[in-house]
Amino acid sequence: MLHIPIDRDHSLPVYKQIYEWIKNEILQGTLAAETKLPSKRTLATSLNVSQNSVLSAYSQLIAEGYLYTKERSGYFVETIHPIRPLNVEKKLDPKLSETRPKSYRYSFSHMGVDASLFPFHDWHQSEQKAMSEDKALLSDINHPQGIYKLREIVANKIRHTRGVICEPEQIVIGASMQWLLQLFLMVIAESEPFAIEEPGYHRLSSLLKTMGTPVYHVPVDERGIEVEKLRKTPANIAIVTPSHQMPTGSIMPVSRRTELLHWCYETENRYVIEDDYDSEFKYEGDIIPSLQSLDVNEKVIYIDSFSKSLLPDLRMSYMALPLGLIDIFKEKGLHFMQTTSVLTQLTLARFLKSGDYDKHIKRMSKYYKELREKLIAAIQQHFGSRVQVEGEKAGLHFLLHLDIEEPIEAIIERAEKMDLELYSIQRFMQKASGSIPATLIIGFAKLKPEEIDEAVEALCRCCFPKGHGLR
Ligand SMILES: *Cc1c(COP(=O)(O)O)cnc(C)c1O
Repeated sequence: MLHIPIDRDHSLPVYKQIYEWIKNEILQGTLAAETKLPSKRTLATSLNVSQNSVLSAYSQLIAEGYLYTKERSGYFVETIHPIRPLNVEKKLDPKLSETRPKSYRYSFSHMGVDASLFPFHDWHQSEQKAMSEDKALLSDINHPQGIYKLREIVANKIRHTRGVICEPEQIVIGASMQWLLQLFLMVIAESEPFAIEEPGYHRLSSLLKTMGTPVYHVPVDERGIEVEKLRKTPANIAIVTPSHQMPTGSIMPVSRRTELLHWCYETENRYVIEDDYDSEFKYEGDIIPSLQSLDVNEKVIYIDSFSKSLLPDLRMSYMALPLGLIDIFKEKGLHFMQTTSVLTQLTLARFLKSGDYDKHIKRMSKYYKELREKLIAAIQQHFGSRVQVEGEKAGLHFLLHLDIEEPIEAIIERAEKMDLELYSIQRFMQKASGSIPATLIIGFAKLKPEEIDEAVEALCRCCFPKGHGLR
């Protein structure tokens, strides 16, 4: 007989207690394979419980495969090979435990925007309309490249704002630039050597290396990637940020753009990936057309994201593939399901169509222009001639070159202690690059206008703790 201790005051129902007890005995091997269990009635009587409780426990054990029945002869224990623990750490290493994201007093980060300026009301209206009017699209698995209607609107938008000529069929929506790049690698550019800018967008370099792609780091000068140096590498695909180089902020002039296209046209399998991440914001003169708009030979892959123009947490980015790559993408790329939410795609489509997007960009351009002017004025006031600003003509960040004696790392360490989020150019450079210039990346999208003066004062104190206030 099974002596199962039953505790009627326990929060676990009686049948669960029976089930747990028998299960443990089987797993530990105390109840051996092929053992015959008492009948429902016998066990119920001996435990002084209802037959139903025993039946529920037995049924669950049968459903999970611990017991089996033989007709007219009862319940038996299945043969289960016991699983034994190896010498494996069963507790999370405290080093790996995730602390809540730190919120800084002032953030000079180049990532992220100030969410309080996002037109949530307008967005919400687009979302409501999508939920009531696009129900049919919400109940299906949609096209792996994204909702056609959104691709149509995006193709139209970049034709007007960026001079990118493409069909909706060429557009692939995805949850991040990194994902789109992975997709491109897996489907199209398998094992092709890549070139990225140095300094450049560090996340891409880590991603490419993790994917096992050969990566060459090609220096940038004040006009962008140095094509002569690019030509000396075996790279076939170059990723560049011509509208606003990440991180130096330079805008690639047309001479360099055509030089880059020349490099691309020299051999058949060369391509350029244009990362146009914050092109919406340009402060002096008109917006510069994309590199893709200069390309006459279908060699530029255009990638953009709504992370900087709307919100990074929408996770909404897209790429426009050249016509010559569509075939191969349709053949191999459509196995990968779409990574963004259909509701967000439909909402974005309506948000773009309604004019709310343009309204927001217009408002934000004006806002960023003033914020940037205020910031630069405050920098001049607090730092005087000890710094030099570079790359401030577009986008949401610029460089600050410092005239300091100590290494830049000391400043970054001090910033952390002073509760400032601050990065140096080192973050965007290869470890082996030799000496690190005394240069900071100053992102301003997360600063509030009324904080600028105090934030810059703190920044100056962080950079020049002793000589602060001296000119
Ligand atoms: C923000 C940013 C992007 C966009 O990245 P997502 O993953 O699509 O948000 C791309 N390139 C650069 C250089 C950026 O700063």
